[in-house]
Amino acid sequence: MNADLHCHSTVSDGLLSPTEVVRRAHANGVDLLALTDHDEVGGVEEARAAAAELGLAFVAGVEISVSFAGETIHIVGLGIDHTHPLLVAGLAQVRDGRDARAVRIGEELARIGIRGALEGARGFAANPALVSRAHFARFLVTSGVMPDVKTVFDHYLARGKPGFVEHEWARLDEAVGWIRAAGGIAVVAHPARYRLSHADMARLFDCFQAAGGEAVEVVSGAHTPEEAARFASEARRRGLLASRASDFHGEKESAVDLGRCNPLPPDLTPVWSRLLQ
Ligand code: AMP
Ligand code: MN
Ligand code: MN
Ligand code: MN
Repeated sequence: MNADLHCHSTVSDGLLSPTEVVRRAHANGVDLLALTDHDEVGGVEEARAAAAELGLAFVAGVEISVSFAGETIHIVGLGIDHTHPLLVAGLAQVRDGRDARAVRIGEELARIGIRGALEGARGFAANPALVSRAHFARFLVTSGVMPDVKTVFDHYLARGKPGFVEHEWARLDEAVGWIRAAGGIAVVAHPARYRLSHADMARLFDCFQAAGGEAVEVVSGAHTPEEAARFASEARRRGLLASRASDFHGEKESAVDLGRCNPLPPDLTPVWSRLLQ
């Protein structure tokens, strides 16, 4: 099963429309796709229709921004009813803070002499409710400040850098609750990317499971093989379902294309065993 259960469209910070994401996934041999835009389900219906046209199995998804132990954590929801009122209201609340945050990022960049970044970032965001740091990064690349998006994050947008702005996202238990209320399965996205102590990482998974979270991305476009092995052990130890996901945003920006992740270790229970029921 070539499942790819985490990727982005122009509805958040991806470079392809929902239809283009689905077509690319199909062309790359994906058998089961989830579209998981940041804090937003506005692309689900278009993607589902495009998938139906191609006979590609599709589940509705979302990637919710959460604050935990001073770090931003991403919780993916899979197989959600994207119209569920509790989820819809929760996501609207998370998106709400994004515009004010974008204004502050623009101000911080202006302080170090980078002008017009807010307008520039807005120009790259197809969805005005969802201006992400990725849109700022694209603006800084096209305006010639930095050679590529990763370098922009390393110099300006990552925690501790001059354009980084602290922000309070959703609470972990809330985000998991919204996903469960909408009939979905909650997944810890790309856990190796979080700068957490061992104790805080353990607490993250404890709280996630206590709230009803059931799965972890073991194989991710954001993980090295060693990191995948580490979280495969975590999945075994905690009895978590395992997910496989490119986290594709676009051709030039993503290390791994749609459907091109490594397979899951065969002894793990794939999260899609529950999605295909
Ligand atoms: P935001 O939700 O606005 O904080 O933006 C987070 C998004 O920025 C992530 O989903 C990625 O798409 C992108 N991003 C974060 N860190 C990096 C990085 N080091 N290199 C490239 N893109 C990144
Ligand atoms: Mn992103
Ligand atoms: Mn993420
Ligand atoms: Mn993502």
